[in-house]
Amino acid sequence: MSAAVAQRRITPSAALLDHLRQLLGDRLSTATAVREQHGRDESYHVTAPPDAVAFARSTEEVSEIVKACAAAGVPVIPFGTGTSLEGHVAALHGGISIDVSQMKEVLRVSTADLDCTVQAGVTRKQLNEHLRDTGLFFPIDPGADASLGGMAATRASGTNAVRYGTMRENVLGLTVVLADGRIIRTGGRARKSAAGYDLTRLFVGSEGTLGVITEVTLRLYGVPEAMAAAVCSFPTLAGAVDTVIQTIQSGIPVARIELLDEVQMAAINRYSKLDYPEQPTLFCEFHGTAAGVAEQSEMVKAIAAEEGAADFQWATKPEDRSRLWAARHTAYYAAIAMRPGAKGWATDVCVPISRLAECILETKKDIVESRLLAPIVGHVGDGNFHLAFIIDPDDPDEIARAQALNDRMVHRALAMGGTCTGEHGIGYGKINFLTAEHGDAVSVMRMLKKALDPDNIMNPGKIVSP
Ligand SMILES: Cc1cc2nc3c(=O)[nH]c(=O)nc-3n(C[C@H](O)[C@H](O)[C@H](O)COP(=O)(O)OP(=O)(O)OC[C@H]3O[C@@H](n4cnc5c(N)ncnc54)[C@H](O)[C@@H]3O)c2cc1C
Repeated sequence: MSAAVAQRRITPSAALLDHLRQLLGDRLSTATAVREQHGRDESYHVTAPPDAVAFARSTEEVSEIVKACAAAGVPVIPFGTGTSLEGHVAALHGGISIDVSQMKEVLRVSTADLDCTVQAGVTRKQLNEHLRDTGLFFPIDPGADASLGGMAATRASGTNAVRYGTMRENVLGLTVVLADGRIIRTGGRARKSAAGYDLTRLFVGSEGTLGVITEVTLRLYGVPEAMAAAVCSFPTLAGAVDTVIQTIQSGIPVARIELLDEVQMAAINRYSKLDYPEQPTLFCEFHGTAAGVAEQSEMVKAIAAEEGAADFQWATKPEDRSRLWAARHTAYYAAIAMRPGAKGWATDVCVPISRLAECILETKKDIVESRLLAPIVGHVGDGNFHLAFIIDPDDPDEIARAQALNDRMVHRALAMGGTCTGEHGIGYGKINFLTAEHGDAVSVMRMLKKALDPDNIMNPGKIVSP
């Protein structure tokens, strides 16, 4: 971590800063507090502030900023809302953070085609607020109210992905400013296309290392006729995970199925003043027609009962469902609050569903043996689960134990045919696992990076090392 931060800084000249100030006026900031806020994410990674923050308002402005930085060889770090978790926005080599949060216009909504185009700074909650009276919604929900540009850049997913897919499935097209300032459009509004290389999917998940996304065209969905959510606790972790596996293998189209272990349940009870049983628990949601929702929920209930579950606690009214999911979404902060002064280190892996129980149970055994505080939560319907290490960042022994446990979990997931991250991404926190996962394919990633960003100015030090 510290070695990465200690890399060579490339400081922008006074002439470059003057040029950007002429372009942006007071939307260029060199204030320490603003720089620090843009050099850290929501994890334990050390802050590495950029030299300045440029608040852009249009694609053309982003292009002008990137052109000026490219001419000076100064790094550019795109910034959405800063909720990423693997050191993604740290300015490891200094440079200019391009903050797109003022690019917040919903440019177009088509109810006939179920799609929309937004500027990159629009957040998922802002989009759903905008869609409120249309009967449509955008389902991808990473918990945090992240920007849609940032979500595209991290290939985000979250609780609803088991039913609606991730950003990979839901981004139809992009406007991107390349490392030389050129503006390109990728993809389009057609639901399918066989026209050339799929550049949209190249930029989705590129974490700001190939270009700055300024506009995103997204799929939308009709709000389901009926929705119901339920909470169900289990005497064992194995029972909860086996319920998920059987649910998915039976083809029941759950909209959400989330696991929280007993440590996490204790944390959210304390944080959100709730009184759920402090046992391994599933939070589920069903979408469809009233009859469909009733049928799906009965099927899951029957599977859960065989695994020893207590009864479902239902939340059918919108306000009760919101309360339930609000508690789920505060899980990370609830876990951090268990240990005053501690920091969170969230990590995730994803495995094929048939290996999920084995992967989670072996990881749980490691946690118990390590004596670390590390609740498990997961979007388990996708085979994806998270640990949040609640650690003292100044205790090297604790960091080393967490690092060792994380390494074991990642290598376990890889050995099971899984991935080192289902959704949080690589940043610099997981950069060392990429070759273990992809082998020589990493050299092709490096070639793509070199072709699109020959001077390595786009978020350098992330995903692939030069
Ligand atoms: C409590 C909590 C829960 C979370 N749960 C989930 C979850 O369930 N699922 C999930 O997927 N993630 C989750 N995350 C992680 C995070 O919310 C996502 O990674 C999110 O997509 C980041 O979006 P952002 O706007 O905050 O991006 P930022 O953090 O600002 O940036 C993330 C990366 O994308 C790049 N980037 C940002 N904007 C652009 C742009 N316009 N163009 C090009 N590159 C850009 C940045 O350079 C950086 O590398 C969670 C985070 C927290 C704090």
